[in-house]
Amino acid sequence: MVRVLVDGVSKKYGNTYALRDVSMKADDGALVCILGPSGSGKSTLLRIIAGLIHPDKGRVYFDDNDVVNLPTWKRNVGFVFQNIALFPHLTVYENIAFGLKLRKLPKDEVDRRVKEMLKLIKLEGYEKRKPRELSGGEAQRVAIARALVINPSVLLFDEPLGHLDAKLREELKFEIRRIVKETGKTSLYVTHDQSEAFAIADYIYVINKGVIEQGGTPIELYESPKSPFVAEFIGSTNFLKGKVIEVDKANNIVKASVGSIEIHALARADLKASESILIGIRPEDILVSKHIDEEYLRKELLANILAGRLVRKLFVGPYLRLEVDIGVEEPIKADVYGDRRYEYLNIEPGDEVYIAFNKPIVFKR
Ligand code: ADP
Repeated sequence: MVRVLVDGVSKKYGNTYALRDVSMKADDGALVCILGPSGSGKSTLLRIIAGLIHPDKGRVYFDDNDVVNLPTWKRNVGFVFQNIALFPHLTVYENIAFGLKLRKLPKDEVDRRVKEMLKLIKLEGYEKRKPRELSGGEAQRVAIARALVINPSVLLFDEPLGHLDAKLREELKFEIRRIVKETGKTSLYVTHDQSEAFAIADYIYVINKGVIEQGGTPIELYESPKSPFVAEFIGSTNFLKGKVIEVDKANNIVKASVGSIEIHALARADLKASESILIGIRPEDILVSKHIDEEYLRKELLANILAGRLVRKLFVGPYLRLEVDIGVEEPIKADVYGDRRYEYLNIEPGDEVYIAFNKPIVFKR
């Protein structure tokens, strides 16, 4: 097993940067996700780590060894792609054994390792099946076994669940985490899906336009996004354009004006009065009430209670999304969970409602 370190890597296609001065690491045995929208440079980064693409600048280390000039086959990496590409004419057993046979391992060694893999991916008894006799999820597990069987130092996943339906993705993401953790392999996992990254990763790098915006654990990224991009990409966020009125250091609060409204947000050390800011509030952090005197609003001692009118409501299932006009540029999205979803189904557009929330996050503008 190894620690992977990427140091100042850049890659240009023509005049545009696919990656610009990217540095990141995956500790020995860690499962690290590279998360970003389509075209952000995720695959390019993974391919540079695999040795399939040579960077214009920068270094890649496996432990203390600079591997940037090593060809892929000397790096000992296992690769799992979105397009599974099992050999259709070979059985499950033969597909998994393929890499070992190439390496001319003795037959009993091949047999032992293939059986170990079948056990790991929970497909014992599937040896003789052909890929067309497997479900999408089973086929992807075979692809993982095939990548693992050669005992790679590093496992690389490029959107391995991309083409599967939602239910399978849900199951398989936990399966991938279990398999990777059982083998203890250092793994890098590329995805554009935040919920997938959160379910799988020990640590996540959020990438945007070829630049790493932020690295952190799922909780760190969710609780303390460093940029509006990260806040918006990790779940959904309302953004309000405001101006700092004053910073109350003693109470760790910044008072800000958004149009004619005053909002109390979390202070930041570097903010000054009259500075332009962006205030980020998550829909799930907002409480909605039909009356301002509702007990629960007072009980929670919320920092901000604002009156508005319902613009739209949408029953999503797990939550009821309400859009409330509070007299700023755009309606505020607020999500109602639990039994209150049904209680609030009877409010109609135009009805008065109150939204309440605690100290939102502030970004500089
Ligand atoms: P992602 O995996 O996040 O979708 P990619 O790493 O595939 O992003 O691509 C990053 C950027 O580099 C994109 O703008 C893409 O169009 C560009 N790009 C990728 N590969 C090539 C290539 N071979 N030639 C030209 N441009 C490329």
